[in-house]
Amino acid sequence: MHTHRHTLFLLAVGILAACISCSSTAQLSNLPASNTGADSAKYDWAAQTGKYLESIQSKEIFLRQFFAEMPKGGDLHNHLTGSVYAETYYDIACMDSLYVDTLSGRLYSKGTTPSTPDAIRLLPDYINSRHMLKVKLIDQWSIRNFHSYNRNIPQDEHFFNAFGLFGAAAGNHMATLINELKKRAVHENVQYLEIMGTSPSVSEVEMDKIFGESYYQSINKKLLDAIQSADTDRIRSVIDSIVRAWEQDSTWKNKGLAYGKLIDSLDASSIADTNIVTRYLAYASRKSEPLTVLAQLHIGFVASNDTTSKVVGVNIVSSENSEISMSHYTTHMLMFAVLKEKYPQVKTSLHAGELTLGLVKPEDLDGHITQAVYIAKADRIGHGVGIAFEKSSTSLLKYMKENSIPVEINLTSNEFILGVKDNEHPLPLYVKAGVPLVISTDDAGILRTNLAEQYVLLVRRYGLSYPQIKQLARNSIGYSFLNENEKQRLMEKLEREFEIFEKKIANDY
Ligand SMILES: [Zn+2]
Repeated sequence: MHTHRHTLFLLAVGILAACISCSSTAQLSNLPASNTGADSAKYDWAAQTGKYLESIQSKEIFLRQFFAEMPKGGDLHNHLTGSVYAETYYDIACMDSLYVDTLSGRLYSKGTTPSTPDAIRLLPDYINSRHMLKVKLIDQWSIRNFHSYNRNIPQDEHFFNAFGLFGAAAGNHMATLINELKKRAVHENVQYLEIMGTSPSVSEVEMDKIFGESYYQSINKKLLDAIQSADTDRIRSVIDSIVRAWEQDSTWKNKGLAYGKLIDSLDASSIADTNIVTRYLAYASRKSEPLTVLAQLHIGFVASNDTTSKVVGVNIVSSENSEISMSHYTTHMLMFAVLKEKYPQVKTSLHAGELTLGLVKPEDLDGHITQAVYIAKADRIGHGVGIAFEKSSTSLLKYMKENSIPVEINLTSNEFILGVKDNEHPLPLYVKAGVPLVISTDDAGILRTNLAEQYVLLVRRYGLSYPQIKQLARNSIGYSFLNENEKQRLMEKLEREFEIFEKKIANDY
């Protein structure tokens, strides 16, 4: 797909060049309007920008400068709490005078006084006075200075643990967290964020109150028994009957609408900046009890179905190789299948294939992306790193291309969590197969990265051309879950910004 576009682009430039040199003006006037006058200069800027990018392909620091300035469209795969830098959590924890376990780095929620002798209370004036404590906590809450030999923990575990360590500083400060993402986006010329903000809250007590005594335990057991049977028809029919009952309960369905309103109010309480558009994805954690997963997904679908809300789709998150994630995987895909049938217009992006050889048994690498695409009918795939290990990957890739199912590529994340980078990464496979791609950050805070760096890695490692890079930026708007009007507006804005950027590059260099 990328090479195809590139060829078309070169073809257009070629036709233009040929006609400029031809003597007959009649021939020129036969050309479509876009190939005349001022537009020729525009194409020239893009071509010059492409040449410049080619000339700096192996010069990392020049690439950093280039991509800091380049308009990037959207970041479609980012988790709010993982995207905020540890410095912000340190400041919040000090302002809130939270206790921290100085050994593990775990923060305790407000009002909790831990009994461990290693706990100390952070105070507002520590923000500027306890430098080494701050340094140590930042290292524990992120991948900075991580070496497995001195932490005695695998990289992926260190990564996923971090959420639990700083988590107590996140909950009451969502607007502060959203502000950081918005400011960073504007700073690095990103026009749109699709954020996994916070998941719908679901509790056993509340569900029992709505559906009757012992409801949660008995229905959850029904699901667990079905999972145990490994009979997909049975699992599907259990999910189906649960969802049907929920659909008929107005108290429950209002919870979905209320979740959408909650997300809207969180967004409204953050800074207003016309330079950045934000939307949100609801999600469930794959490690939860199956009934909790289904309840969160259902709430997410109801909220996304309400087109007035900023919740525009549903996802499923958390480490894919955990025991529950693995053994409930097909059930989760069936949940999406049932909900998608009920709400065909609701968009879904699914983390799938965030796995690699060595992390799980080889036979367990087969099928996660396949199931997300064919069973869950995902509109986008997050990561897709394990594609080469899936049994029918060739036909799967073909299907993804033909049905325009893009993959959200997260290079730094894959490198740290899975140890997959350079030629081990499936990006060239996807490019060759013509599967649409977007580039995203995943957890920029924990990973100490940003979107510009992801573009640097793309060019540095895979030598993508400027037209290919531009296509990725366009894809990040085109494959977003915005409605068509908003999509078109942002796409036009992106094109305008590209014009300004290319003109500047062409003039400067
Ligand atoms: Zn993710």
